[in-house]
This record gives sequence, structure tokens and C-alpha cells, in this order.
Amino acid sequence: MGVLTLFDPWKNPLCTCPRKYTLNPYTGCSHRCLYCYATAYIRSDRSKPKQDLISRLRSDLKRIDPRYPIDMSLSSDPYPPEERVLGLTRRVLEILLPLGLRVQITTKSDIYLRDIDLISKHNVAVSATITTLDSSLARKLEPHAPSPQSRLKTLEKLSEYNVPFSVRIDPIIPFLNDDANELRELVRTVASIGAKHIVTSTYKAKPDNFKRMIDAFPELEERWMKLYFPKGKIKRSYAYLSTEIRKKILWPVVDEAKKLGLTYATCRENLVTPEYFYAPSCDGTHLIPIRSEPKSISSQIKSLTEFLTVK
Ligand code: SF4
Repeated sequence: MGVLTLFDPWKNPLCTCPRKYTLNPYTGCSHRCLYCYATAYIRSDRSKPKQDLISRLRSDLKRIDPRYPIDMSLSSDPYPPEERVLGLTRRVLEILLPLGLRVQITTKSDIYLRDIDLISKHNVAVSATITTLDSSLARKLEPHAPSPQSRLKTLEKLSEYNVPFSVRIDPIIPFLNDDANELRELVRTVASIGAKHIVTSTYKAKPDNFKRMIDAFPELEERWMKLYFPKGKIKRSYAYLSTEIRKKILWPVVDEAKKLGLTYATCRENLVTPEYFYAPSCDGTHLIPIRSEPKSISSQIKSLTEFLTVK
């Protein structure tokens, strides 16, 4: 099985992501966010290096179409604490970036600053998740990820190096991080340090993440149950809040982004009107700069000639 694969979220019609590849150097994720969606199908709560990652990557590179960006990573963080020692993500970047491929680093970490020499020279944008500015709430929700303040400091550095970035305010969870004023302040804060695009989304309950949420916040169980079950709707095995509530929760984020002249999008909300979605891509991949053109990787790559002649 390949390690560099087309992103295909089970053909979910609610997903508006552009065509792209996904590559997870690790399986499982040590950040152990309570709301993590990936744990429904990847049971490990530690980041484990993928077996034979580099040789499998070299083989997959022969088959990819270099027109499409590569998102690292979508079901694990590419910069978990283990990366400080293992340097696996760095090795992947050292292979991908000199080929002129476009890469988005999707992360909650601050470790990627170690690789700024590569990131700032090549076709890379960063998508950083910050769900709240409240560090004690973040510690409960994302117990092993760096604090929001540390993520902000790292993003400030990215701006100094002229690396574009978007911020994911995702997920917004009723009664925890849904205060309208705090959400507006979060958007203003990330805009002030250079964010160009905001992606946002409400929390969708799955049995395993909902259990973790209730274990951590038992006082909210009853209120969540009412909001998600009698009033909400099951879509593709996720429990969604009602459309009315989702629109209300997301509004401060998209409205503040609009006021500040940022692009913005909602993720898997089926809210694609200009009020809630105004961007060339939902995921921020439109920010990836072109600092170098793709090079032919091998004779087996979809021919570069074909790539250059596509209208
Ligand atoms: S960083 Fe992402 S993949 Fe890792 S635990 Fe948190 S939500 Fe899951």
C-alpha cells in the first residue's frame, strides 16, 4: 500500500477539499486531542513511524501527478514530539521539496521551526490549528500538543521568513470554545501575526471522541446530549449539530475574517455560500507559494510534458 496517496475522505460529499495527496509519516498521534476524528480508525495513541516510509515514498513518487499539492498530514500530526528525535518528516521534506512539489504542513506543533531552512526556500505553506487562546482549556483538549501561545510564537517566526500560513479554528465545541468574543479575538490575533486564511468547523461527535469528551467534561454531558442527539443529525456516521446552531457558532469566525480581509472557509459543514465560504480552497492549499517549478522525478512520472500542456 502506498504512503503518498490521493486524499479521498471516503467520497464524503461534504468535503470540499481540492484534489490533493496526503502523506502521514507517522501512524497514530501522540498529541492525543480529545476530539480527534482519526482515532475512530487508527487506534494508536502514540505516533509510530510508518514502516519503510522512505522506500515506499520513493516508489510512490514515480506515479504521482505533480500538479497536485501534498498535505502532510491529515490523520496524524507530522511534527509530534517523536519527530525531534526521529527526524522522519524532515527526511520526507528533503525528498519532496527539491523536486519542486507543493507541500502543505498541517500541524498543531511548533517543532517545524527546526526545518525552516527547507520550508522557507521551497513550495511550502503551513496550516496551523489553534482552537482557543485559553491555555488551560487547550491543555485539557489537546493534552500533549504545544500551548496556543507557543503555536502563535512559531507562526510569528514563519511570517518573518515569509512563509504563508492559514489557521484552523477547528473544532469549535459548544460550551467550551464557542464564545463569540473569544473567537473574534482569536481571529484578530492570528491575523495580526500574518494569517491569510481561516478554516473553521464545528465539533462532530463520533462514539470514541464523544466518550473522551464526556470523561473530561462530565458536567457538559447532558447539554451535549440534548444538542447533538434530539436536535442534531447523523451524517456519514458523525453526529452534527443542527444547521441553525452550526451557523450561529461559526458566524463570529467567518464574519471577523471577512472584516479583516482574510479568506475563509468552513470544513464539512455544507455551508458553501459566500457568507461562510470565501476562498479559492477550503484547506488553505491556495497559499502554497511557487518558489520552484516541479522537476521530472523519473521517466515513470506522469509526463511533465503532459503536465505543462494541460489547459
Ligand atoms: S493533532 Fe490531529 S491527529 Fe493528532 S491527536 Fe490531535 S486531532 Fe488527532
